[in-house]
Parts: sequence; C-alpha cells; structure tokens
Amino acid sequence: MDDLAAKLDARRAQGLYRQRQTLSSPQGARVTVGDETLLSFCSNDYLGLANDPRIVRAFCEAATEHGVGAGASHLITGHNAVHGALEEELAEFVGAPRALLFSTGYMANLGVVTAFADRHGVICEDKLNHASLIDAARLARAEVRRYPHVDTGRLDEILAAARGAKLITTDGVFSMDGDVAPLSELRELAQRYGARLLVDDAHGLGVLGSEGRGSCADQGIAIAAPLILMGTLGKAFGVFGAFVAAEEAIIETLIQYARTYIYTTALPPAVAAAVRESLHIVRAEPWRREHLQTLIRRFVEGAQTLGLRLTNTKTPIQPVLLGDSEVALAASQRLRARGILVPAIRPPTVPVGTSRLRITFSAAHQAADVDQLLEGLATALPL
Ligand SMILES: *Cc1c(COP(=O)(O)O)cnc(C)c1O
Repeated sequence: MDDLAAKLDARRAQGLYRQRQTLSSPQGARVTVGDETLLSFCSNDYLGLANDPRIVRAFCEAATEHGVGAGASHLITGHNAVHGALEEELAEFVGAPRALLFSTGYMANLGVVTAFADRHGVICEDKLNHASLIDAARLARAEVRRYPHVDTGRLDEILAAARGAKLITTDGVFSMDGDVAPLSELRELAQRYGARLLVDDAHGLGVLGSEGRGSCADQGIAIAAPLILMGTLGKAFGVFGAFVAAEEAIIETLIQYARTYIYTTALPPAVAAAVRESLHIVRAEPWRREHLQTLIRRFVEGAQTLGLRLTNTKTPIQPVLLGDSEVALAASQRLRARGILVPAIRPPTVPVGTSRLRITFSAAHQAADVDQLLEGLATALPL
C-alpha cells in the first residue's frame, strides 16, 4: 500500500490530483454542490436538455411500460422495440442507412476500432483524439501512428507508407480544444489510400449542422463509406448512451464482432425512449442552437477584450489556455470562490504545458451568466 500512497502523494504535489464534486441538483446552468449553488460552465449538456420535463416524462412513462432494466444483452433478449425505433430515427437523422445503439461512447469506440483493425493493420490517430479512441487502438493491437493535430499532410505521408488494413480515427469536435476536424480532407485521404474513417462526433451532434445533425452535416459530408460515425447521447441529447451510424455491412459486422456490443447489457429501454423524445426536441427547437451561438459570440468578444488566449472555434467548448497546471488550478479555485464552477483541465488529459480552464456553454445559460463569468475571469486570472 505504501507504493500507492507515494504515487498519490506525487500526484498531489504536481497539482494533478482529481476530486469529484457531488451534486445534489439536476444538471443545469446552476448546480448545487454541498450547500452552495454555483453557476456552472462544466457540463456537456449543450442544449439544456438533461433535465427537460418532456424527456423526464418520456423516461418515466417508458419505465412504467418496459421496466427499469433491459435484463440481457442485445443479442440475447435485451433488444426492445424502443431500441429498434430509436435506431431507425437516428439513422434517418444523420442520413445513414443504419444505426446501432451502444451503451456508451467509450464502448462504441472500442467496438468499432477492434472490429475494423487488427494486429496486421495500422490505425492513424489525431494526437488530440479522445482517450476512448486511444484506448481502442491499444486494444486492437494494431500499429498505432499518431499524427500532429489536424495535420493532414503528415497523415498523407503515414498512409502512403502504411501496410495492411488502415483505419483513421478522429474527433469531429475535439473535446479539450473545441476545434473541428478537417473532415473533407480526411475523407479524401481515406478514399485515396483505401482506409476507413471513424468520426467521433460526441461534441458536434445536436450542436452543429442543420437540425443539429453534427460535424459531418456541417461540413457537407455524407455518412457513407469510407466514413463511420459515432455519436453520443449523453451530451447535447442530455440522456445517455451512444450509437454508430454507417452502411448495412458495417452495422452487421459490428453486431457479429464488436465485443463491447455483444458482451454487455443493453441500454434500459426507458433510456432509449428518453432519447427519442430528446431527438424530437433537438430537431424541432433550433432556437437552442441559435441561443447557444449568441452566448458563445458574447463570450469570445468579452474574452478577447480581456486578452485571454482561446482556441479559435464556434463550438460550445471554449478553453482558456493557461499553460501551467498550478495556474489553471488556482484560477479554477478563485472562480469557485466567486460561485462559478469551471474545471481546470491538466495532464494527462491534455499535453504537458497546455493546462487550461475548460469552459462549456449550454442553451440553459443566459447572457447575464456569460457576463458574470467574464467578470469572474477578469479578477481570477493573472493577466
Ligand atoms: C464523452 C466522449 C466520449 C465517450 O462517450 P460516453 O458516452 O460518455 O462514454 C467519446 N468520445 C468523445 C470525443 C467524448 O467527448
């Protein structure tokens, strides 16, 4: 046990120790932590749907009808008509022939990557890909080549030299920087070298593109070979779960071979029912995306006036780059003392020397909330 204590102490000393906040309220612009109510810029609930009464009602009604647990994996008896209906609606939404539900985005990425890459192939990863894509590549035991962030020139060279089956994986919207992948160039490279392209659109779906169809729609890219889309349902959709959208043969292959699909309990049908309601709202209420864009513009203008270092993006992920982890942690703590919750993101989640405050906006925020955040930043940061 001494070795563990020493390891934990070292992490503390580096300013990298992680602790959970325990909420006693639902997710929202304001959350309750202990006996404090804090203005929160931490969630991935981009459209403010995590506590929407219509979705809560759909969830409760479906639980009454279908019970609480799916009771089995999809391939045994866990697959319910509600799952099937949601898969059809998601496929139609993103414009793909088929969609397949997974329990989480993490598992969906593991499932796709291990189904389409093996020891004889090569996986090309953007350096800033989400941890689940990195872990997926390790699990596939393929040769992994990581290219510098959005550097398609370097990717071109790697693909030219690669042997065996090739898979390119990328976030659609990068989770810690909020910038977007150059999808049309990536698809072009995939086509040229006969590679598959997995786009993880956890942060683009619901937020970008017409009706919130995501990064691909926003960049005019169809969900067709060589592209495979992974979308999550616990972020802008405000619920839980994930799906993969692609053509028939890809989906059937996943059903046969994706171990994270086969060997796990199906999502509760009530969760699927809640997502169906959420999907309806995501499409029918464009004001949520418009309001979110207004908030983001207000923040970017204010932050520029303060001279803060941002990444150049119109997504709701707006990091303030600070560099040193102690500095980021101190800034987060000073904001917290002013009733504002913004996480400090430190290595190993981001590269050493790029610690930051990761601010995320939600349609649940008001303009006055953005102003309060800017005031907080003006006093909390060493400018
Ligand atoms: C959140 C996230 C995931 C994981 O999705 P879960 O459904 O939360 O497991 C995968 N990829 C990216 C880019 C994410 O941000």
